[in-house]
Amino acid sequence: MSASSVICLLHFRPSMVVYVLYHADQVMKARYNYRIYPKYHQLQPLAKAMGCGRVVWNDALWLYKKAEIEKTDRPKNISSVVITQAKKTEARKWLSEVSSVVLQQSLRDLQTAWNNYFDSKKGKRKGKEVGKPKFKKKSSRQAIRFALNAFTVHSESVKLAKIGHVKMVVSRPLPSSPSSVTIIKDCAGRYFASFVVEVSQLIPPPSVPPNRGDAEGRGVGIDLGLTHFCILSTGEKVENPRLHKKMLKRIKKANRKLAKAKKDSKRRERRKRKLAKLHAKVKDQRTDFLHKLTTRLVRENQTLAVEDLNVAGLIKNRKLSRAISDAGWAKFKALLEAKCDKYGKDLIIVDRYYPSTQICSFCGKLGGKKELDVREWTCLYCNTVHDRDICAATNLLKYKDAGGQSESQNGRGASVSLPVAAVCDETSTNYEQFSLF
Ligand SMILES: [Zn+2]
Repeated sequence: MSASSVICLLHFRPSMVVYVLYHADQVMKARYNYRIYPKYHQLQPLAKAMGCGRVVWNDALWLYKKAEIEKTDRPKNISSVVITQAKKTEARKWLSEVSSVVLQQSLRDLQTAWNNYFDSKKGKRKGKEVGKPKFKKKSSRQAIRFALNAFTVHSESVKLAKIGHVKMVVSRPLPSSPSSVTIIKDCAGRYFASFVVEVSQLIPPPSVPPNRGDAEGRGVGIDLGLTHFCILSTGEKVENPRLHKKMLKRIKKANRKLAKAKKDSKRRERRKRKLAKLHAKVKDQRTDFLHKLTTRLVRENQTLAVEDLNVAGLIKNRKLSRAISDAGWAKFKALLEAKCDKYGKDLIIVDRYYPSTQICSFCGKLGGKKELDVREWTCLYCNTVHDRDICAATNLLKYKDAGGQSESQNGRGASVSLPVAAVCDETSTNYEQFSLF
């Protein structure tokens, strides 16, 4: 986990998402999302606020970019230029019709985004490179943020400045009072309220059902695949739901219809919404599946081992990219990491070059490389018959004992590659012979 802050997805129901931010000082911030249902007369003020927030963002970004190109200093009184002064002009006078908090927050968000981009460019910021902020479009997902003084939370609604009470489905109560709320309208036309709250203590770990008494202290190796979503070292094979594939026919049809609609027509808007809804449905179903699976795995085990797959690299393979994206491996790993952190479980990230399919999980000797269609093989040393995937999953769990580095919640860093010699004293000369099995 990086030192500053990492956002992890922790829980999702279509009406709710919880992200948890871990800071170096162990203060935990959680994000709670609820579905909200604005009334018909509230849609216009909401759209107006989102539009004004977007215009302020775009105006300020234009000034930033101009300053960057002309190599001048960033305009200092930007808030006065794009909000206060702009309100007095004919072209921007409608900015005064919405809550000024929304405009200020939009500007603040842009400043954060711009600073992150600059810090990342200069190498001051750890982690993945942050791109330059982009101009916001009317057609994409919209979001506005209200600071503390501009909203109040009630049991079944949230009151927003200049918009009023909006009905909210509270699937679970907020643990403490939120510091801000973001109102989101997604591409499928659904509205969400997203609150940031501080969580003072960790939620107690969920109980471990006594359904399995494996001798190795409740550990599980997880081998990810496409035929099955994953294969566990316990022998369980989790079905791959292939949600996108199931919806593909409908998505393709919606795409064709959209392509035929006239540009800028109402029909086109309608068809676009319909396509977005199909995609949103697939995403919700996948998230739901992944949450249920990861929660179960984390509840049942103290140690979890999973392969460090290079998902971004694998997706570049055109033949497999759709199947891999559909499976959601990257999200599975992110959820597993977040939940292991939350509940104090050990997560072993196994180096991607560890030959998990080649080692005999019983005697630890190295058999040769096996073709993908070899589903079962027999170890030449101990005559154990292995199911290829279950054997691989078992090896993942044994990775730490074999000399690999565990990446527990306190010491996550780059994976350390494991020399093959540490797990097997045989040389690779027998490869040809073994690949027969
Ligand atoms: Zn063996």
